[in-house]
Amino acid sequence: MNLPLEVPAPATPAALSWTNGYARLGDEFFTRLAAQALPAPRWIDSSPSLAAELGWPADWTTREDWQALACFSGAAPWPGMEPLATVYSGHQFGVWAGQLGDGRALLLGEVEAPGGQPQELQLKGSGRTPYSRMGDGRAVLRSSIREFLCSEAMHGLGIPTTRALALVRSDLPVHREVIETAAIVTRVAPSFVRFGHFEHFAHHDMPQQLRQLTDFVIERHYPECRDTAEPCAAMLEQVARRTAQLMADWQAVGFCHGVMNTDNMSILGLTIDYGPFGFLDAFDPGHICNHSDHQGRYAYNRQPNIAFWNLHALAQALLPLIGETDLALQALQPYKAVFAETMEARMRAKLGLRQALAADRELIDDLLRLMAQDRADLTITFRRLCDFSSADTADNRPVRDLFIDRGAFDAWAVRYRERLQQDGGSDAERSARMKRVNPKYVLRNHLAEVAIRRSQAGDDEEVRRLRRVLERPYDEQPEHEAYAGFPPDWAQTLEVSCSS
Ligand code: AMP
Ligand code: MG
Repeated sequence: MNLPLEVPAPATPAALSWTNGYARLGDEFFTRLAAQALPAPRWIDSSPSLAAELGWPADWTTREDWQALACFSGAAPWPGMEPLATVYSGHQFGVWAGQLGDGRALLLGEVEAPGGQPQELQLKGSGRTPYSRMGDGRAVLRSSIREFLCSEAMHGLGIPTTRALALVRSDLPVHREVIETAAIVTRVAPSFVRFGHFEHFAHHDMPQQLRQLTDFVIERHYPECRDTAEPCAAMLEQVARRTAQLMADWQAVGFCHGVMNTDNMSILGLTIDYGPFGFLDAFDPGHICNHSDHQGRYAYNRQPNIAFWNLHALAQALLPLIGETDLALQALQPYKAVFAETMEARMRAKLGLRQALAADRELIDDLLRLMAQDRADLTITFRRLCDFSSADTADNRPVRDLFIDRGAFDAWAVRYRERLQQDGGSDAERSARMKRVNPKYVLRNHLAEVAIRRSQAGDDEEVRRLRRVLERPYDEQPEHEAYAGFPPDWAQTLEVSCSS
């Protein structure tokens, strides 16, 4: 039984407990260093729901004794924090890229939270580190707003992700294609360990550190693997399963990550490193959201296969610990089935079907094929489908109007109606159920772009409003109907690239 424990919020940051597990791993894993503070920082927004999960008081950003702006702009860490940049390597666009690492991120520490699992806090955009290579260690306002909003939007959708606690801006100039200004996002996750951390120690022939990192991750995040015959292979299998589920989650809402390099893959199966991501507007399976991805390696419909490729890179890295190639491959083996099962479950739920029938696959595929053919908007189609009437006389015009080939839609609708009647239950009950899995609001590129442009002009209110809308993506929010509409024509010319 869960006792409703009233945990009092810490009075000051000095009352927080820091575990800082990663900082105990040793010098081969990171470099300790201080952030380079943003000059004259200003708050843009913070996530009240995340602060509540951390057990912090609601007014933590403004309390005199918390000095939160100084801390999360990189000027003055709180007592107990041990800032460090971690080293990792990885494959970028399918090619071994050598050593990378936190080039503009800084792990502040790991803090205890009332939920039980300690959380790591990390600044992104806090200045150069030994892993910055040619970079300046900064992040521009534009990309920071996108990361902040999408982290909280994905959480609102119920998709595993690193969270965003706070967003701070400054007038500090940052040179990209044009001169922009700097910002820092504070990210929160149980761990920021990536596939690339394991690849680093494997590639550099550091078996002891590879073992240490694996033990660390198993101990904290996969304790159920500890007492199995092959803990490392068991962990790999769990990572494969979580990653498969994450891919199904992404595909179901039309999320495209854009840069699925192995250094952007979380060992916990979280969505991590929001760069040139995008949500599908019109359903286009081959959509490439990253303007820098000329080959379409990370196109929407390739994401599940790319994740599997990345898991092979992880398996390769873990091979010195697992010993036998067969064992490692065996650990990856459930990936395809877990992805397929989860995907089918997600799609069935999106169609409001409770029982699983063999013929459902065809019904789902045929709808997706029609949507692709007519470039129907993914989010709007499924949301309108929530109000589909199974009455024989219904014309279901709102959803029907999304299709160019009305005859083809009508033919599909007859099959869907029959299937719904077979599934039983009322339209009203099904509609409510479907609206809990088919979001009304997603962070379309143009919505982020409007918020960015207003912020660039000095007004951050739109960021805050959008964050609040996206925290409740499944709720009807009549006052925010405009955020649920089709993308405007100008959205088609938006280009999002790796530049951030
Ligand atoms: P990403 O493509 O954002 O996942 O970044 C790949 C690598 O480049 C990571 O090691 C980043 O830390 C590093 N990086 C990206 N942008 C910068 C920057 N402006 N300054 C320093 N390092 C960067
Ligand atoms: Mg990255």
